[in-house]
Amino acid sequence: MPSGQTHDRITLWSLPVVAGIAFGQTQSGNITLILSGAYLFSGLMFGPDLDLYSRQYQRWGYARWIWIPYQKTVKHRSILSHGFAIGTILRLIYLAIWLSILGLFFLGIAQFVWNVGWHWQTWWETVKRSLTHHTTEWIALCLGLELGAMSHVISDWSHSTYKRQQKQKNRNLPPQRGKIVRKKETGDRRELREPRELRKLREQRKSRKS
Ligand SMILES: [Zn+2]
Repeated sequence: MPSGQTHDRITLWSLPVVAGIAFGQTQSGNITLILSGAYLFSGLMFGPDLDLYSRQYQRWGYARWIWIPYQKTVKHRSILSHGFAIGTILRLIYLAIWLSILGLFFLGIAQFVWNVGWHWQTWWETVKRSLTHHTTEWIALCLGLELGAMSHVISDWSHSTYKRQQKQKNRNLPPQRGKIVRKKETGDRRELREPRELRKLREQRKSRKS
């Protein structure tokens, strides 16, 4: 597969194209920003390679440990991490579970220390309202995340295909005869060698004469 650096480059170079198409289709700065941001986030931090020790994983900094159980469960380049839509959906669910656990933990502390009030009903109403009022924004977010993941998967796939073809090509080539590689001698060396050869010849002649 391509290196992390190549994946980063592909994400960064394709970003203007994604943003251009998004703006061309929606004519909305907000949607373009959300989609491009999600695309960038997905390409650099939230992509399929979170299933192994990668740049994407390292970018989570102190919070990267949350991806360790994911790496242990999902095999690298399996359909669960690199598959179309399923990879992003599973990562989103996984992240949501962690955010809920951490959220509940901090909420528990806040309730205990500052007596902060919390109602599931109100929270659920807010989520529902956001989903219905900002449906396009949510779709742009999900689309951006999926596009970022797919640009990764496509470059993984084309790299593997190219490598496979190269291997096949090398296999089809006739076996090479043992090449004789001779070091080129520099002029100086040849000159240095000649007297020695001459000496040898002289010695041979001498021995024949005697
Ligand atoms: Zn990958």
